[in-house]
Amino acid sequence: MNFEKLNIISPILKALVKEGYNKPTPIQAQAIPVILAGKDMMGCAQTGTGKTAAFAVPLLQILYKEKSNHQGPRTLKALILTPTRELAVQIGENLSAYERYTGLKHTVIFGGVSQFPQTNALRAGVDILVATPGRLLDLMNQRYIRLDQIRMFVLDEADRMLDMGFSHDVKKIIAKLPVKRQTLLFSATMPPEISDLIDSILQKPVRIEVAPPSTTVEKIEQTVYFVEQQDKTSLLIQLLGSKSIDSALVFTRTKHGADKVVKALAKASITAQAIHGNKSQGARQTALNDFKSKRTRVLIATDIASRGIDVQELSHVINFDLPNVPETYVHRIGRTGRAGLGGTAVSFCNLEEKEYLQDIQRLMSRKIPVSRDQIFSMSASGN
Ligand code: AMP
Repeated sequence: MNFEKLNIISPILKALVKEGYNKPTPIQAQAIPVILAGKDMMGCAQTGTGKTAAFAVPLLQILYKEKSNHQGPRTLKALILTPTRELAVQIGENLSAYERYTGLKHTVIFGGVSQFPQTNALRAGVDILVATPGRLLDLMNQRYIRLDQIRMFVLDEADRMLDMGFSHDVKKIIAKLPVKRQTLLFSATMPPEISDLIDSILQKPVRIEVAPPSTTVEKIEQTVYFVEQQDKTSLLIQLLGSKSIDSALVFTRTKHGADKVVKALAKASITAQAIHGNKSQGARQTALNDFKSKRTRVLIATDIASRGIDVQELSHVINFDLPNVPETYVHRIGRTGRAGLGGTAVSFCNLEEKEYLQDIQRLMSRKIPVSRDQIFSMSASGN
């Protein structure tokens, strides 16, 4: 299978070649024909599967063909709604790459920053808008944005959107969309609230499911250390002392925990930056850019802030705290092992977290090997 076989038009093909995409990923191979046929679609897929291109490529192709038929001023024809600023920026970066030779234009809007550059971009005219719900509603209320010409709507990471409490905002936005439109919904998990949402906003959707990145998971070397909570920082410092850790994304459960780890690492002369919702948008973006460009070796993140972080060649994911939702573990470790590369995932597990570990192992149908060099002993360890 290649992109030509999916009937991708040459301006977009050329951009994909430039990005080094030779072969569609499974979700792309399945979703692109459905979307090009104008159908509603729901995709059960996580970040890391290539889902952004799965919707962005056909969306651009549809708009490109329409633009060639109707010349006229630019109007907003596609809306991509996504829960976090980081994801919005990420989708924007992907669109910039894919739309390069199409003459189509997009802009990205999110809260926590001045609205002026965003309203200026909107005033200049865009075909596609990538937005987080709060800022979108705000600019709609200020009449900078009208959704009445939208013909393609993408709801990205729908489960996360609801988890973050955006349900009400999303409904308000959807109420302003034309009834006649094509709707694409992506969600990593399908809890009942998402099924209800699907029934209410999609019409005869084609369901596409790609296995949670178990293929990715298989390529990742996983280990767990049993360790008391108070020893986790020392263990982290010891591990980061190893040169084999090229870049590490460290997950903590709370924002406070993330800041504490940064401080403790600083005392041990290890430079790290934290990325979480309490930081200003500028600080988060700087931390992310420093990490992507390998200026910082260690980034400490909470789950919500990390959504959409796409770092090529990330060597290590470290679970300083284990998540209580097993799917989150798979999400986290899927940050390494991108695009078929291997990677290492290390987890710290205290006594209370053993239950979470069991849930994770059940979800993956595999045991995570216990590290042979248990640096710190834990009372009642074992699995
Ligand atoms: P996503 O799941 O959309 O976040 O994409 C994960 C990563 O895979 C991103 O870095 C994309 O640039 C990359 N990617 C997406 N599709 C392809 C493809 N067909 N070939 C190679 N890399 C891809």
